[in-house]
Amino acid sequence: MSRFVYLDNNATTRVAPEVRDAMLPFFDTLWGNPSSMHQFGGRVMRHVAEARGKLAALIHADPSEIIFTSCGTESDNAAIYGAAEILGPRARIITSRVEHPAVLGPCRHFREHGYTVVELPVDGVGQLDLGALREALYGGNCLVSLMWANNETGTVFPIDEVAALVKSVGGVFHTDAVQAVGKLPIDVRTTPVDLLSLSGHKIHAPKGIGALYVRRGTRLQTFMIGGHQENGRRGGTENVPYIVGLGRAAELAAAGMAEEGTRVAALRDRLEAGLLATCPDARVNGDTHHRLPNTLNISFEFIEGEAILYHLSDLGISASSGSACSSGSLEPSHVIRAMGVPFTAVHGSIRFSLSRYTTDDDIDYVLEQTPRVVARLRAMSPFVRG
Ligand code: PLP
Repeated sequence: MSRFVYLDNNATTRVAPEVRDAMLPFFDTLWGNPSSMHQFGGRVMRHVAEARGKLAALIHADPSEIIFTSCGTESDNAAIYGAAEILGPRARIITSRVEHPAVLGPCRHFREHGYTVVELPVDGVGQLDLGALREALYGGNCLVSLMWANNETGTVFPIDEVAALVKSVGGVFHTDAVQAVGKLPIDVRTTPVDLLSLSGHKIHAPKGIGALYVRRGTRLQTFMIGGHQENGRRGGTENVPYIVGLGRAAELAAAGMAEEGTRVAALRDRLEAGLLATCPDARVNGDTHHRLPNTLNISFEFIEGEAILYHLSDLGISASSGSACSSGSLEPSHVIRAMGVPFTAVHGSIRFSLSRYTTDDDIDYVLEQTPRVVARLRAMSPFVRG
């Protein structure tokens, strides 16, 4: 395999060399427990505090509002369990049909335990039905969990508007911002979210570190009960090297977001235009007016996404299927289904997700290879119109 082109950055990203370098001393020399009374522990704690400050700065939060967790999934679970337990079973939980399983799973758990759970529909481009949200909010006393940006299509929900609506009825608002952080500007001083989840490995920090933003004054039941770490809000000895890595990744994201976002969006747009021009019967899935700068979800009608991926992978190109669910079955994803994508396109959806490491040459190569793969598979497809 002569080429390696990685366009699966919504699944995970490469650890930035600057992040790795920042982490190394915390394996070799500064390996103390930050909760220890001695000076060695105290020195380590200062680095944890510094990382907390850098992460807080990325979303304009106060450092005291950041809780480090093990991943985005834990952050989502901690937010939903923690808030739903406090609100009690009379509260309504409002979410959408296109959320990540880390949100849908906990919401459905509470449905089984007597809570009313509303899963809001989306339209054909995966955009939220705000009218349905307004209706569901009637009466207040609710926990609302809606994602900032969708991992499969890149569709960005109008979170400012959503947050204002939820707060106008006194509800608690959680947003899964795992895909938005580092790609879109986020400012919790002007967007009234109560709880916000993020994950390190989507922003060039390692896998296994995340954070939950908890607005000061938000009542939350502790999810991980143990020691007094994180001000008693999340037990467990701090994962210091990874926390330091996440802090450095946040700093890099803040510094490069505007410039990199523009460059990456231009590459993505070139990829999109090129594929639409060279592959007949292709269609973009997602809201092209409100979309993450790095994400392209595209359906090639009449062929299987998995077959395209398999051939692209043989050519050294890593992308992702929008149609396989995590169980490995060939069922269309719940996101694509919720959008009502036509049957002929539902199985042929592919997600290309770019990063700051994506180059012009990478896009040229994908534009050269993908039309050939699509044409070859179409020639074999029993569904292609003769
Ligand atoms: N939420 C969204 C929108 C995601 O895309 C992901 C990961 O793909 C998660 C949550 C889970 O994050 P993690 O892999 O850190 O548990």
